[in-house]
Amino acid sequence: MTMETRRQFLSTLGASCLASGLLDSVPMIAEESQTARSATEGFQPIEPPEWVGQISRMSYLTPDAVPDVAKIGVQVVHGNAVWPYFPLRKDGGGLSESDRLLLKRFTDTAHQHGMKLVLGLPPFPSVDAMLAHPEWRIQPGGNEFTQPTPLEDNLGTRLACNNGPWGEYLIEVCAELMEDFGLDGYSFDGNYHPPICHCVACREAWRSFAGEELPESANLEELSYRRYLVWRGERLENHYSRMQKRLKGIRPDAVIMTWTVNAGRYGHFLHSPRAMPTRMNLLIDLPMQEWWLDETNFGGSIAPWFGAEYLAAVTGYRYCGCEPYLMSRGNPYSPDSFPAQERMIRSLGVLAHGSTTAHSVGWTWGVAGAEPVFSETKIREPWILNAKPIPWAGILVSEQTRQFFAWKDIAERFLPHVFGMYRTAMEEHLPVSLLNDWDITDDGLRPYRVVVLPNSAALSESQLSALRRFVAAGGGLVATAEASLCDELGVARNDFGLSEEFGVSYAGKSSSAVNPSELDENFARSLNDEYWRNRVGAGVLTLMPDSPLINQPVRELIPSLNARFKGPSIRVTEPEVSSDIHARFRIDGEPGIPDQPAAILRHSGQGRVAYFPLAVDAAMWSYSYPFLREMLANGIRWAAGEPPQIKIRAPRCVQVTFKTRLNSDGVSETILHFFNNVNSTAHAGLPANDVPLRDETIAIHGIEVHVSTQYKALLTSSKARIQPGDRAVESVLEDGELIYRLPPLEIHFMLVLE
Ligand SMILES: [Zn+2]
Repeated sequence: MTMETRRQFLSTLGASCLASGLLDSVPMIAEESQTARSATEGFQPIEPPEWVGQISRMSYLTPDAVPDVAKIGVQVVHGNAVWPYFPLRKDGGGLSESDRLLLKRFTDTAHQHGMKLVLGLPPFPSVDAMLAHPEWRIQPGGNEFTQPTPLEDNLGTRLACNNGPWGEYLIEVCAELMEDFGLDGYSFDGNYHPPICHCVACREAWRSFAGEELPESANLEELSYRRYLVWRGERLENHYSRMQKRLKGIRPDAVIMTWTVNAGRYGHFLHSPRAMPTRMNLLIDLPMQEWWLDETNFGGSIAPWFGAEYLAAVTGYRYCGCEPYLMSRGNPYSPDSFPAQERMIRSLGVLAHGSTTAHSVGWTWGVAGAEPVFSETKIREPWILNAKPIPWAGILVSEQTRQFFAWKDIAERFLPHVFGMYRTAMEEHLPVSLLNDWDITDDGLRPYRVVVLPNSAALSESQLSALRRFVAAGGGLVATAEASLCDELGVARNDFGLSEEFGVSYAGKSSSAVNPSELDENFARSLNDEYWRNRVGAGVLTLMPDSPLINQPVRELIPSLNARFKGPSIRVTEPEVSSDIHARFRIDGEPGIPDQPAAILRHSGQGRVAYFPLAVDAAMWSYSYPFLREMLANGIRWAAGEPPQIKIRAPRCVQVTFKTRLNSDGVSETILHFFNNVNSTAHAGLPANDVPLRDETIAIHGIEVHVSTQYKALLTSSKARIQPGDRAVESVLEDGELIYRLPPLEIHFMLVLE
């Protein structure tokens, strides 16, 4: 949402917020919030009402723009109008007369035009409420902490804790407004949790849960703080669960469609300590993200596309929205000179990655600028709504690894691994989904041929058990670097949790010769800064001849099968079977130290495991020699045991996603999205600032889809159609495969197989 709508509202309308001033009639509805226990067990995602599954077009606007957006096909209107009042209406408070008229007009107009209204409610108590209830305030420090005087024009002085009575009050305000005005739902720009809070409610709730006092400060070095952060996240989930129950009790089709802050924007990935747990996205009917492709969010890289996909993944590939931010490059930013073509490219790209488009009318060209995007979205609706990825490879994006293992330097210790792995999958056109920590269960893994752990260091015992059973039963596993080295809170084990499957043991940092028998058993327990420095080095990687990691492109790229490598590497023991080693690594400048295993491929149970002590994934992000991509993709294909049933031949700038859905006749369709992300200016600008601002598209010719004999048997016909446009594509049968030769790809189309 833009400055012109939500942000501007927050900054300029703050002064007009009038509390009703009845200070003495305050509900205290905090009993449950102070006694409720951890929500870890029995976590239940909410079930969004059916209408959410029909939404592909949302807009952010001020109340007076409602009739205009109705004309361009908007289905859900998001906007701010009023602030939480005090006291409650049932206690004699409520909205002022002018706010009441404003909100009624906003809601009625949206409904008259057949649109849903989701009210953006700033989650801040009024000044009067803050004065009446000092105990509502977030208390970041201990007893000596002095609270600032609450001010109308400074939201930073009006921060209240939703783990206590304020949380219950906010729910009741939402309930009253919904009853009084017929609102369809809410979003909040905020309403997360602070890094730490020492308010009375938090102190008592933590004491009752943990039997100890709160951690002094937000210090991730302390294990007690890590436990607190997990607990505080569960308390926030509990707050949202109760809000959902209250609102859906008033009207079953009520929704919370709010902003998520941990699921897709590069800058959000760096945020630590986090402000909400990733799993909380499952308690939001449709989480949305501000989606930026600017320089600070690495707009020219794989990062935003990974982010769009990740947002879909954290919702279990149900419903989510990306709002592309339309800022031209350069800091300070401006929306000037932003090309309409770039807006279309970004918007169709998020559709390909499983999100809906959401557009503010506050950007340049206003309603008219959003119209073409909504029009292109609408004609794609039959194939984008309620589609799910076809499971083949699942890449774990481990939030607990990000937060508890890599927190000191997320940009170096976490993101390169997941970005490099995702980039590999995109450029090799592999059918890939992203997995969350909570997906690592027997049921969650079963649909996949291969599960990928890109330096997924922090894994719980139960996740390890599920992974072991998955491999034993025939699943493929690909892992890199420190995968499984720590528990779910980032505490190092003495060895990999999956050492049996990897066929090797952890032997410490890469730059010193460590005899495993001499390994200090306490070493692994503290992964200190020296450890991090030492795991990154340069050297020579040597591939073993005849390894499945080698294909023709690898032979052409590195004919000697030796190549420079720079990136993290982990020292491991020699495996029992020396032929399991498929690559070795010699680090620079350490004569006398033997080559170390860099890639291990082996069978484990019925399954196959490809473990890379050398972080090929991180290297694929940082310096990206093409052979790295080939080698990694070959490892994934080998571990899967069989190639994907659908193979794509297309340039690497074409992103392909593989979906399936039941059409209106109950027939299962295979939907392949083709998204052309090419940039015609060919990176001519200053590299750090050259994020895409495309005003033209180069059509891509010669794309082919190869469908295996096995998959062909699942299709009712060999006919396929390109959508939108309903163009038939004939197939030819060659060596049992169906081959489709596609027409030139402009920005985006789908190939639909029945
Ligand atoms: Zn608190």
